[in-house]
This record gives sequence, structure tokens and C-alpha cells, in this order.
Amino acid sequence: MEGVNNKMTREELKKDILRYLKVKYGKENIDNAKDFEVFNAVSMALLENIVHDWNTTTKLYNKEKNAYYFSAEYLMGRALGNNLISLGLYDEVKEVLKEFNIDINKIEEIEEDAGLGNGGLGRLAACFMDSAASMEVPLMGYGIRYSNGLFNQKFQNGFQVEDADNWLKYGDPWSIRKTDEEVVINFKDEKVKAIPYDTPIIGYKSKNINTLRLWKCEPVVEFDFNLFNDQKYDEALEEKNRAEDISRVLYPNDSNEEGKLLRLKQQYFLVSASLQDIIRTHKKMWNNDLLNFSVMHSVQLNDTHPVLAIPELIRILVDEEGMDFNKALEISKGVFGYTNHTILAEALEKWDVELIRKLFPRILEIIENIDSIFVKELEEKGYSEEAIEEFRIINDDLVRMANLAIYVSFAVNGVAKLHTDILKNTELHNWYELYPEKFQNKTNGITPRRWLRLCNQELSALITELLGSEDWVKDLSKLKELEKYANDEKILKKFMDIKHIKKSELAEYIKEKEGIEIDPDSLFDIQIKRLHEYKRQLLNGLYILDLYYRLKENPNMNIPKVTFIFGAKAFPGYERAKAIVKFINEIAKLINNDEEVNKKMKVVFVQNYRVSYAEKLFPAADISKQISTAGKEASGTGNMKFMLNGTPTFGTYDGANVEIVRESKDENNFIFGLRVEDIEKIKDDYDPEKYYESEEALKRVINTLIDGTFDDGETGMFEDLYNSLLKEGDQYFLLADFHGFREEEDKVFKAYQDKLLWAKKCFLNTCNAGIFSSDRTIMEYSNDIWGIKPCKNK
Ligand SMILES: *Cc1c(COP(=O)(O)O)cnc(C)c1O
Repeated sequence: MEGVNNKMTREELKKDILRYLKVKYGKENIDNAKDFEVFNAVSMALLENIVHDWNTTTKLYNKEKNAYYFSAEYLMGRALGNNLISLGLYDEVKEVLKEFNIDINKIEEIEEDAGLGNGGLGRLAACFMDSAASMEVPLMGYGIRYSNGLFNQKFQNGFQVEDADNWLKYGDPWSIRKTDEEVVINFKDEKVKAIPYDTPIIGYKSKNINTLRLWKCEPVVEFDFNLFNDQKYDEALEEKNRAEDISRVLYPNDSNEEGKLLRLKQQYFLVSASLQDIIRTHKKMWNNDLLNFSVMHSVQLNDTHPVLAIPELIRILVDEEGMDFNKALEISKGVFGYTNHTILAEALEKWDVELIRKLFPRILEIIENIDSIFVKELEEKGYSEEAIEEFRIINDDLVRMANLAIYVSFAVNGVAKLHTDILKNTELHNWYELYPEKFQNKTNGITPRRWLRLCNQELSALITELLGSEDWVKDLSKLKELEKYANDEKILKKFMDIKHIKKSELAEYIKEKEGIEIDPDSLFDIQIKRLHEYKRQLLNGLYILDLYYRLKENPNMNIPKVTFIFGAKAFPGYERAKAIVKFINEIAKLINNDEEVNKKMKVVFVQNYRVSYAEKLFPAADISKQISTAGKEASGTGNMKFMLNGTPTFGTYDGANVEIVRESKDENNFIFGLRVEDIEKIKDDYDPEKYYESEEALKRVINTLIDGTFDDGETGMFEDLYNSLLKEGDQYFLLADFHGFREEEDKVFKAYQDKLLWAKKCFLNTCNAGIFSSDRTIMEYSNDIWGIKPCKNK
């Protein structure tokens, strides 16, 4: 077959699939096999074929400087389709399955998403894994193999209800348990084992196969045999359960600090296991010498969640390897890079000193030591006592994880230009003055394999045809060469025909999953992302309701038929976010059931938004809604996925939106609202009431939160939303941005009517999306932070 990594023939692949069906499921005839059995058999047949390249890649990397991504989250999604694309075997396997009378789509759809992350931060980690493998750079991912990933979401009567995720129910054919590489983790009163599960990250049409290593927590002793014998079954299993709790569940919070004992244990579990693993390999390779540790390894800390790696590395070097403390600190200062993902105050992790003492007293001692060394340095530099307080790692009996990270890391980066500027100029200004050389920007990116080549195979084929090769999949800057077709009506028509295909596919899927019929000929206006007040789904909802009232008043209003689509999970404990879900569902019900209006507009809130749903939504969008309060969205990556698939951004001047409109030009996007500097100016005497009183349309829709228009099941949740806007100062400036939003959306409706001009806007977004490839991002990290180079597995 055409695949790069293997010389297997179609007949061999068929034989392998049948063999796995036989030994794993006892089935001698594929016609009797369930979809999940076929999925597992195909996956294992493919895995078998790449093991050799995987092992040679690992060996090759061991001799080079490596980087490690430490992340509490990996939002991987499904593996099969992506791996087939990377192996260059998608069409071949599709054919093979067809010969068995099986539709590849059904096999792909049976796979559960690996949803080991909440949103953008975890998805970024997944895109980085893919890019590093495809760029052939020695980056390894370390994380936790949660038994239950992000919860599943359903709506009941418009309310969000949550269900446990069980992504392992059919097994996990893409990972290999490496029992022989387990390590022991010591808490003060508990000892557990960390077992690695390795997942291959296949470079696109490359023999390089990188590794994502996720740790599962297990007890040192399976169960207490004597207790069991005495029929004390619960007690016998107590230790096992306590250990397994550590890797049981992903915390479903996004941007909120979740101060839980178990979460702190998870964090230490992750970093201790990973560092022990790295050090074990290092000692084997370098004759037990650890003095060159920072020469051979860089560790990137994905937000503050893995920052305990800093004191843990020092602990291992000092307590277990006998190194002097100052030497260990010096080495650590050459190892870590820290990525800041948010400036939201509630997301900055601070751990209670007593909690840390209770779980790992030695780690606290080391942090205290670092803190006092740092204070001495600041005193010598002549900082005042007051200024020093601001920098202290321990303050008010809290350990400030970001401070620890910035002090020890040699590089600190933000995730979009605007975000990094805000860090330097305001949020971390004092740190920037102290260590200007540490601060860098690394604008986020997305992998073009999953977010175009796999999820939009029709557009991929068109691009390949126009460019004459598939090189763009690994060098996305090539998309720029498509610009010469921007006035070619024939090409634009093909481009928009593909958009229509993707919209039809989505409409069909939504009909099946949500039971709602939508028209692929309507404008698809899509907002998909975690539910958060700063992301302002509520503003979008209020706007849609306003449009509904305008249509009721004036049924002849000249707008194109429009479908508003939402997708978002709300953190189960975040009541206001759940209230917004319910409110938008109520709006949807009102509009979709109104026979006068539903021929012109509809609203769909899809359930259980996740990576696999995202792959169907991004290619089908006409408008990408990115409307966060300026300054609050550090980067965003959903915005990039829309752009790559040819969708104009409707948004505020925030995060990477700034760079998106710089690349694809103002006239191809719709930017509205307050900018960071506007908010700075008005924030101190901002009065939402003023906007409410002076704009009837706004007043009308806000009043629906309290005048009985909608039913919140007597929870009072809608009144709480009302209060957030009018009694608590409208923290996220929804009222101030309402008018601009409305005017800008009217511009969208107008622009959408000119089909040719609209097509050109869409097309130019794709042409200019090259810079947002995570291949570019990963090469910047490699060159500017990690000091690692590509090394090709031949
Ligand atoms: C890309 C992605 C995100 C991040 O979206 P933003 O709009 O950048 O917040 C979240 N969830 C999923 C499933 C994604 O694919």
C-alpha cells in the first residue's frame, strides 16, 4: 500500500484485521463483528505496523536534547481518522473496509473521544503533539490517564445535565501499557505506583513517531489479602480505591481555580512520575551524570498546573542524587519554560501552605528555601520590602504557583501578541522589569492535519489540486499562493460548493443528534467554546432575541435566512454559566416554535460539544463568533480553525483575533466593540444602567430575564443573570458592546447577500491562515525556548 511507514499489502492488512477479530473477540467472520470490534481490530493492525518506527524514533531521540510538554490536559479527540491521514492510508483503509462491506464513517464514529481536557489549553497540547511529530522534533508529552475525561453533556428541558465520561469502555487500542517502566510516587502517608501508557503520535507522512506518555495511578498492593479473607471487602479495597482516585477523573473546570486536595495530589503525581522517568533515562544514557541535565532536557510547563515539577526536580537532585541545593536550583533554572494562558484572577493557582505540608512536607521545605533565596536576591538588588512582597512565592500562607514558575523558569511566554503585551505592560509588569529577557510571545496554532486535512477532505482535495501537491499539509504558509485565485469565479464557486457540502453534512448530523431541522442554505453563524461569562455567549443570546423581536415587528426585514448554532459545556459548579445555557435554550425554543419566524431564523444549541463534534462544525460555518471582552481571551484557537476552513471572524479585538484580521485584512472580517484601551478608560466609572436606559431594544431583551417571558423552572437563575448585568456592574461589558454588535451583524447580513464578494472573503481567510499552523508555533518553541532541532528517523 501507499503508506509511508509500512510495506504491508492490502491483503496483509485484511489478514491482520481478521486475526485480531479472532484472538480478541473470538469472531471468525467479520460480518458478525460489532463496529467497536472492527474499530479495535483495525487500530491494532495499524499499531502493529508502526511499532518498529516508534521504537527507532525513541532510540534516536534519546541521544539528542529533548523537550517535554508537562500538561494536566490533553484534549485528543479520536485517533483512528487522524492516524490514517498521517500514515497516508485513509483512502486505502476505506477501500479495504468497503471490500468487507463496511463504511469507514461508521467505524470512525464508534470511537469515543479521548476528552482528557477542558478546552483550548488541552486542545493546544494535543495540536502541539501532532506538530512536533510532523516537524520531526524530539518532544514528548507527559500527562495523566484519567479514567473519566470531561463529562458528557445533555439537555433536559433546556437544563444542562452531566454524565460521567467513559472513554475506555471499548478499550484503548492506541495505547500500550508499559508495566516494566512503572515508578513509585511517595506522598507523606501514602505510596502509589504510576504506570505509563504510551500513545504513538504519528508524524504526517514521516517515519518519526513521537510519544505521549500518560500515567495511571495504581496501588502498590492490589488488596489486603488478610482483610479480604476476613470478609472485610470494603476495607480490603480501600487502599486500591484511594490510589486509583488519583487518576480517576479530570477536573471539569476551565479558568477557575479548583482548590482540592485531590487535584494537588494529581499535580504532584504527574510531575513526580514524569521527572523520575526522564532522570532514569538520562542516567542510563549519560553514565549517571546529572550535571549536564539542563543541556539535554527542556520541560515546558503548560500553565501553573505542573509547576510542582520545579521543587520536585530539586528534591530528586538533592535528596536522591546527593547534589548541593544551590547547584540543583541552578540546574532547574536551565530546564523549565512556563506558558501563561490567562490573566483571569480566578485562574491563578494558589495553594495553602498547610495542604502542601500535609501531602509532601519536603516539597514545602524546598519551596520555602527557594523563596528565601529569591528574597535575598531582591534585597541585594535594592528592592523595597513592599516591592518584595509582590514577588514573594509564599505570601499569606499561600504558595503562588505563577510566582514560583516565573522565578525559576528561563522563559515565560504568552500565547498571542496582545496577551503577551498585556503580561508585560500590566499583569506581570513588575516581573518584566525584573527579568525582561525571560519574556517571549508564542502565538498559538492549530494542526492543519486534524483541522483541515482530516475534517475537510473536500477542501483539502481542492487545495492540493490548485497547488499541485500536498506539501501544504506540512507547510501551511503555502496557502498564501492560493491568493491568485481570489478573483477567479470558477474557483470561488468550487470553494463555496464545498462549504455547502459541509453545511449539508452538519445539518444531517444535527437532525440525527439534536432532532432539529436546519436549512443548509441559511447563514450558519456559529459560537462554539467552553461556556464562560467572559466569552459572552449571553451577549450573543440577547442579540438573537433582539433580532427575533425585530423580525416580529417587521416580517419583511431584509436579512438572509440565518441559523445560529451554539456548542458549549458549562462547568457543573458554575451556576451562572448553566443559567446561560438554559436561557439560550429557552430562546431557541421560542424562536424555533414560532411559525412566523422560523422560516427566517433558527437557533440550535448542540449537546456535548467536543473535538469530534467540532470537526463537523468548523468546516460548515459562515460566521465565526469570537466575542470575548477585550483583554480576556488570551489567544483562542477555535478562531483559527474557523479561519482555516474559510470563515470570516465576527469578533472583538481580542487575543489572536487581532492577528487574524492583520493577516486576512479588515475587509474580510467583522470587528466591533470596545478595545482593551477603551475598557481601560471607561472601566472605573462604567455604568451599565446608562446603556440599558438609553437603548429600548437592549432594555426589552434584558427584561425578559425577569418579566416571565421565559421559564427557568423557578430556580431564580435568570434573575441572577439580570443581576449580573444590572446590579453587579456588568463585569464583562455586555451592555456597552450590544449596540456595536447589532450594527456589525447587520453588516454581515448585508455582505452575505453579495455571493461573490462573500465567497472572496471566505477564500481569503483560508489563504491567509498559514501562520496559524501549530507547526509554526512548535518550531518557535523549539528554536527560541527549548533549543532542540528536528532529527529525522530514516
Ligand atoms: C479548539 C477547541 C476549543 C478552544 O476553543 P476557543 O474558541 O479557542 O475557546 C475548545 N474545545 C474544543 C473541543 C476545541 O476543539
